Amino acid sequence: MTNPGPNRPRRRGSCPGVLAPMQVGDGFLLRVRVPAGVLPADHARGIAELGDRYGNGLIDLSQRGNLQLRGISADGLEPVTEALRGMGYVSGDAASEAVRNVLCSPTAGLDPTALMDVRGVARTLDARLAEDAGLHRLPPKFGWLACGGGIGHLAHSGADVRFDAVGDGWFQVSLGGTLATAAPLGLCRVQGVADLASALGGAFLELRASLPEPPRRMAGLVVAIGTDPFVTRLSSLISPLPPGERIKVRGTHLMDVFGDAEPPHPNLLPGGEKGLITGKVIAFPFGRLTCAALSALAATSTEIRITPWRALILVSPSGDAEHAARAQGAILSHADRRLKLTACSGAGGCDVGTTDTHATALAIADRAGPLLDAVRMVHVSGCAKGCAHPAIADVTLTARDGLYDVALNAKPGDATRNTGLSPADAMASVADLLTEESSGA
Ligand code: SF4
Repeated sequence: MTNPGPNRPRRRGSCPGVLAPMQVGDGFLLRVRVPAGVLPADHARGIAELGDRYGNGLIDLSQRGNLQLRGISADGLEPVTEALRGMGYVSGDAASEAVRNVLCSPTAGLDPTALMDVRGVARTLDARLAEDAGLHRLPPKFGWLACGGGIGHLAHSGADVRFDAVGDGWFQVSLGGTLATAAPLGLCRVQGVADLASALGGAFLELRASLPEPPRRMAGLVVAIGTDPFVTRLSSLISPLPPGERIKVRGTHLMDVFGDAEPPHPNLLPGGEKGLITGKVIAFPFGRLTCAALSALAATSTEIRITPWRALILVSPSGDAEHAARAQGAILSHADRRLKLTACSGAGGCDVGTTDTHATALAIADRAGPLLDAVRMVHVSGCAKGCAHPAIADVTLTARDGLYDVALNAKPGDATRNTGLSPADAMASVADLLTEESSGA
């Protein structure tokens, strides 16, 4: 990766990168795209040191399996970029970095039930996206996915282009959606993935340009024109699917582990908890950890995997990782009520926020205790925009000028009679509302 580009600050709402840092309430936010989601322990330590030295010591895990360094100072941008470049995480320029959006099964190589170890394919895709200048015009959120099946399968993750392993070195290629909703295109061999990706990306750009209102994403283009134009253009690179064939995820599915019980919270993998993979799955509230925690985890692991569920898998031959994770306040069980909490950065990381959303949410988990057992999600939003979860949650707090509105089964900003409450009163209100609801009042 040569010809480094300058750091150009990015506006809020677009996709940040190392070369496109985003200025937010607590300084610059740098998204580090980690190929295949595999972070060697020495890189994890190095990144933690950078975040402590030049940032505010906080790291967020993104829902696309990346790390985000927070609170980087303007003076720190250059040394952080150079250090990350030395570790191989920085592309030639911001355009080549922005398109490196590849999800990889986080248990690849750790899970004997998987059909294929897709780390190599994910890295190949990452590299091709960076190298192929023809693909740098893809929309910034255009995403790719390599799924090997098994416990860490990505059947429910959406992508513009999916490569789902079907065994014997073959992938099913499908367009625009989850495994269930994406439109199947055909089969391709592992060795053909990179060339097919180049051709597919090019076909997307060409075909969308022929429409009066070009769709931004693959799903929209498939709705508009179907898959035939792709099949015609790519026939030399794909093999047809058997008629009526559609693959299913093979391996230990989440529901196979938990039976008919409610599916586990998506932040964690059941295989990690039950020892079905060779790694310990942990999470942190809101997908946020400190650099000190990352450094401590790295000290007891050989590598750390970043999942698309904002969790980490610690690969540790010594078995000390669990102890280190516990000492850092990590979530190690599906029963941990902190998994039910969702919150945006609030006043700590967004200039619109007026309350400490994370502190409020954690205090609610403490105060409400078992009342949360019947609840799937508590959302504390820094304002009516609802960046962390714009949809309905069982409990929603919306901040306004340092006070909260509290509502059940509502989305941020919805009308409620419980308005203008101090953080302490809002916590009491949540407990009262849940008690009323559980007693059927
Ligand atoms: S919901 Fe409001 S306060 Fe929270 S991050 Fe979004 S804009 Fe900022």
